[in-house]
Amino acid sequence: MNYSSTGLEGEIPAHLEEWEDEVPPDGQPAIELFAGEGLTYRDYLALPGYIDFHPSEVDLETYLTRSIKIARPFISSPMDTVTEDRMAIAMALLGGIGVIHYNNSQDRQIALVEKVKRFKNGFIMDPVVLGPFHTIADVDRIKREFNFSGIPITEDGTRGSRLIGIVTNRDIDLEPNRGIALGEVMTRDVVTATEGATLGEANRILKQSKKGKLPIVNGRGELVALLCRSDLKKHQEYPAASKDEQKRLRVGAAISTKLDSYERLDRLVAAGVDMVVIDSAQGNSRYQIEIIRHIKNTYPDLGVIGGNVVTTEQCWNLIKAGADAIRIGMGPGSICITQDTMAVGRAQATAVFHTARFARMHGIPVIADGGIASLGDIANALAIGASTTMMGSMFAGTHEAPGEYFYENGIRLKKYRGMASLEAMEAGGDKRYFSEDQEIKVAQGVSGAVVDKGSMFHFLPYLVQGLKQSFQDMGVRSIRELHSRMYAGRIRFEKRSLAAQLQGTVHNLHSYTYPAMTTNRKQ
Ligand code: GDP
Ligand code: 5GP
Repeated sequence: MNYSSTGLEGEIPAHLEEWEDEVPPDGQPAIELFAGEGLTYRDYLALPGYIDFHPSEVDLETYLTRSIKIARPFISSPMDTVTEDRMAIAMALLGGIGVIHYNNSQDRQIALVEKVKRFKNGFIMDPVVLGPFHTIADVDRIKREFNFSGIPITEDGTRGSRLIGIVTNRDIDLEPNRGIALGEVMTRDVVTATEGATLGEANRILKQSKKGKLPIVNGRGELVALLCRSDLKKHQEYPAASKDEQKRLRVGAAISTKLDSYERLDRLVAAGVDMVVIDSAQGNSRYQIEIIRHIKNTYPDLGVIGGNVVTTEQCWNLIKAGADAIRIGMGPGSICITQDTMAVGRAQATAVFHTARFARMHGIPVIADGGIASLGDIANALAIGASTTMMGSMFAGTHEAPGEYFYENGIRLKKYRGMASLEAMEAGGDKRYFSEDQEIKVAQGVSGAVVDKGSMFHFLPYLVQGLKQSFQDMGVRSIRELHSRMYAGRIRFEKRSLAAQLQGTVHNLHSYTYPAMTTNRKQ
């Protein structure tokens, strides 16, 4: 290159000469960035790339395990204030996946998994039913309690028996005698759809029939579900949904390395769980290796996620045992005090980079778990090799997280607690910390609150859109491309000084409002 043609005179610095016609790259490759001290997501940024495409062309599909792909790189954490059935259903509909926590009885965890597997968008899978021998007074009682009065009537009054009629408000509203049996007043000529009908097909039948309810029956005429006209507008198709071969939503479940997990595991598999997460704070243990081997021998097709680990050596042990994905993180979680109490762990970005690079050589994806407090943190985790991100505090304030909202100083909050907080341990959550038998409990987490984040059905699409724009800024169209360019040294990074970090967020204003969805951090 002829530098003098720019009008700038002088000698070409020796280190630039080798570039001749090319522009010398700024920043450094990830391998150099992570060669030294431990870094977190805030310590660095990716430098911008070249944009010749629209954010809508960005594809966020990724590997959850070596064989399960999902459309969005998001996982909700197996914590009792984050993931139960509602969260897992929302996550799967929106293209991610939820992992049901195990701070509960086997029966309860199985029931939660079954609810997700049985979920059919818009279909009520466990409708209230009555028999012909019940009376109008029974419908009145249901109306008072649940506020609906469209009741399918089955032969023996239970779900799953043969549908023989339906009672709706118009069958009973003018009847003064509330003691009359439903068999006498019900509508017998019922419009139904057959099991397997899609939401769109059921929609069309309801529209044509002009009825308010559409019972779904199987080949033997037995009731399997109910669709309400009043719900139709609320439900849409979710093209990115994470589904198994039978078109059921995907869901994961956490298990511990304790003995009772072997029975839990069998029941989870029978309930249709798609993958299990061996939930352990320090995953490089004999117990974990034994349970992974057991699962791979007994259920070779079941996805097994091992962890948590932060070094390549720990990773290697779990990969050798047969893990299909590895969960990375020891101490970065927002509720976590492991690094304070145990002084063992690793800065999260450094942990993710080194483990992801190693696991990739074995075809195993890694999950960046913990310490993600903003949209930018998600992009930063993916940029350094994570295939998916797992979040607790980001999702704990949404409607779909377990628990009720409460107010503190006028702010609407939801409880969020670490699984190793004293409170959660007392409720049985210390199975991931090898401390169950000890009388003295050393907490590795705290109990707190997070602000209301609205519904996951608004929040996740926001994260998806933001991430697509971040990918566009980096000049990559997919996670696959991001990773291959990153490992080739084509995505360049730069470390940020503390002053640069402060400058990189709002500063020097007297007052401002930060967009609530963008971050959990107090600004
Ligand atoms: P109805 O005509 O009085 O039965 O009431 P609507 O159809 O207007 O509304 C019933 C609402 O209750 C819908 O949003 C349903 O999804 C909801 N729902 C939940 N469980 C059931 C159930 O078991 N039966 C019925 N009929 N509705 C239910
Ligand atoms: P967050 O997304 O809130 O930053 O972190 C969530 C992650 O923290 C979880 O997925 C889990 O790995 C970890 N975690 C959950 N509870 C505890 C705890 O009590 N102590 C520690 N050390 N980590 C926890």
